[in-house]
Amino acid sequence: LLKVGGLEKSFGANQVLAGVDLEVRRGDVLVLIGPSGSGKTTVLRCLNGLETPDAGIVSFEGGPTVDFSAKVTRVDRTALRDRSAMVFQHHNLFPHLTVIQNVIEGPVQAHGVRKADAIDRAEALLARVGLAEKRDAYPSELSGGQQQRVGIVRALALQPQLLLFDEPTSALDPELVGEVLIVLRELADEGWTMVIVTHELGFAREVADEVLFFDEGVIVERGAPSELLRHPKKERTRRFLDRLL
Ligand code: ATP
Repeated sequence: LLKVGGLEKSFGANQVLAGVDLEVRRGDVLVLIGPSGSGKTTVLRCLNGLETPDAGIVSFEGGPTVDFSAKVTRVDRTALRDRSAMVFQHHNLFPHLTVIQNVIEGPVQAHGVRKADAIDRAEALLARVGLAEKRDAYPSELSGGQQQRVGIVRALALQPQLLLFDEPTSALDPELVGEVLIVLRELADEGWTMVIVTHELGFAREVADEVLFFDEGVIVERGAPSELLRHPKKERTRRFLDRLL
């Protein structure tokens, strides 16, 4: 579905991505792990067009293929952004809009979907994550886990080819983490293609097709979760995992 080659990004003198290559097959779940500041979030933001890489190629099957070493047009940028939808650490819902208004905002405003159709789809998605009855609630009336589930529904409503999750459970109280991971697991089972930054290694072991370990802007090691998480080959990976366990 997606190929990324030679992705580089610096903020001033700070090189955050130093040549990242990865490939995502349709239906795969990739989990990115690594220390704070290693560049995981920046990779997601580059894929979603929130950040512009200094160099590298991002290529979706069937287009677009964007070469960031060359001039990037607005058309390229929009095409890239429309392929994926991102779920953030903090749900980023609009506080002054109800749940249903938050979910239909993207499809209606950005994609020109008819409001009635957007509402139908939003209601179906909310029902799927057990939030049908919260349709008219405001974000402040929901628990953190419920807010995050609305955040996921909002991403699904955009009908992207690729879902990007940036530490979707790390801002939640521990007892609310499970309900969000259940939704992610269901999406994986349904065949959604996902790239997930998370520190939930148990979840990664169960759901990931591939785990990528980042450090200092490069992928140090990658592999099947059973291999990488249990028998890391590189010393840096081992040290990171030892600290987490
Ligand atoms: P974390 O788990 O803490 O989110 P991460 O691996 O996701 O870490 P990034 O968020 O990608 O790491 O950040 C990598 C580096 O890039 C950090 O040193 C951060 O300070 C820097 N950085 C990220 N965004 C910006 C920005 N907009 N301007 C300047 N520096 C930035």
